[in-house]
Amino acid sequence: MTETSDVVIIGSGIVGSSVAYHLAEQGCTDVLIIEREAHQGKGSTGKSMGGVRAQFSTPVNIEMSRYSIDFFSRFDEVVGHPADYRAHGYLFCATSERHLEYLTANRERQIALGVTNVELVSREDIAAFVPQLRVDDIIGGTFCQTDGFVDPHSVMMGFMLKARERGARLWLDTPVTGIEVEPVSAGSAGILPAFLPKEAGILPALPAQRISGVMTSRGFVSTRIVVNAAGPWAAEVARMAGAELPLEPLRRQLVPTEPFAGLPKRFPMVIDMSTGFHFRREGKGILLAWNDPDETPGFKTDFDPAFVEKILTRAADRVPALAEAEVNPRRAWAGLYEMTPDHHAIIGPAPNVEGLYFVNGFSGHGVMHSPASGRISADLILRGHSDLIEASQLSVARFAQGRLLEETAVL
Ligand SMILES: Cc1cc2nc3c(=O)[nH]c(=O)nc-3n(C[C@H](O)[C@H](O)[C@H](O)COP(=O)(O)OP(=O)(O)OC[C@H]3O[C@@H](n4cnc5c(N)ncnc54)[C@H](O)[C@@H]3O)c2cc1C
Repeated sequence: MTETSDVVIIGSGIVGSSVAYHLAEQGCTDVLIIEREAHQGKGSTGKSMGGVRAQFSTPVNIEMSRYSIDFFSRFDEVVGHPADYRAHGYLFCATSERHLEYLTANRERQIALGVTNVELVSREDIAAFVPQLRVDDIIGGTFCQTDGFVDPHSVMMGFMLKARERGARLWLDTPVTGIEVEPVSAGSAGILPAFLPKEAGILPALPAQRISGVMTSRGFVSTRIVVNAAGPWAAEVARMAGAELPLEPLRRQLVPTEPFAGLPKRFPMVIDMSTGFHFRREGKGILLAWNDPDETPGFKTDFDPAFVEKILTRAADRVPALAEAEVNPRRAWAGLYEMTPDHHAIIGPAPNVEGLYFVNGFSGHGVMHSPASGRISADLILRGHSDLIEASQLSVARFAQGRLLEETAVL
């Protein structure tokens, strides 16, 4: 007997799990999530630094963060599982007038969009957060208390557990190997599943193809709706249906120190804007991060031991005490950002394949934006629009139409 499902989600990371949760919350429970790994979280979600922040530069990212951070603050109560949200704040430190003007302009935009607790801070304020920071060249910055961290694994599991409690099914250890499409015949208005209201699935241009199912290692699953939540692998999943996604994987490396008592027990994520180096406390140690400008796109997930010296140089320059911190390179790790040309997510229907939905390309922000992206995707699938944001801004069509949304606050 052929398996059927109203919706198939490919990928069970934090994003696919959130889409499943939000569909189930909106009453769509015949959902099958298909994951090729034996466990959830083996993609980018399990590699994440867990940072969440509303301090972005574009309205759409600020709006997605505002919704998501509010969601994280209520996650335990609403979802019934812990998110481990810690409102320790993000502290951006500027060493040039240009950077300070940039932070000030972003802050005005953030406040106008309802993130009213972003403060301008002085060099002295910054030194009070982390007295060990070298502040001689810092001229000011911004701080937002409700920015902070979550545990990505807990959030992913919480979304998935709740979706499954509502009836969604999860297949682990099951690669999707193909997506089947068929021609849309003229006048085929009745093709949408019965559970969808009439206005759902309306696309800007009439696609020539529609989804008929997915091929997996367990056999064929018949469905009219496929959600591509395959993280850095999303472009290859899109190609299975004959669709294009402008998305490239980019390695990102993190270095934890051994237990280190030379910094406060609690402090915000600190971002040195002169180098992009940033760090936060992780248990008894410190988690160090830096976006190496020499990194090139590709599926590279090995940690490069030469990175340790590069990052420690930046760390000791900004926090001289960190020169004393011990690092075991075997505890460091690498994962993949899923980069788009304008560093914004791609959310919504594929223009050329009816029933195919993208929720991809978070460019390093997929954990923090997982609540908003799950909600927007569920809205688009079930109603054809979302009242959370004007979702067409994030449509893949923006690249062909030259409507790019450049985000400059990428860490
Ligand atoms: C080092 C690092 C630090 C980061 N720090 C942050 C941070 O501080 N804050 C933040 O918000 N974001 C951060 N990110 C980004 C964030 O982790 C990602 O944006 C997010 O996890 C994407 O989630 P996802 O569910 O889309 O993808 P993934 O977690 O990669 O999940 C995709 C899933 O799809 C599955 N899959 C792929 N192809 C198939 C197939 N053919 N069949 C079946 N299954 C398939 C994969 O196995 C995988 O489980 C970081 C990323 C890295 C690498």
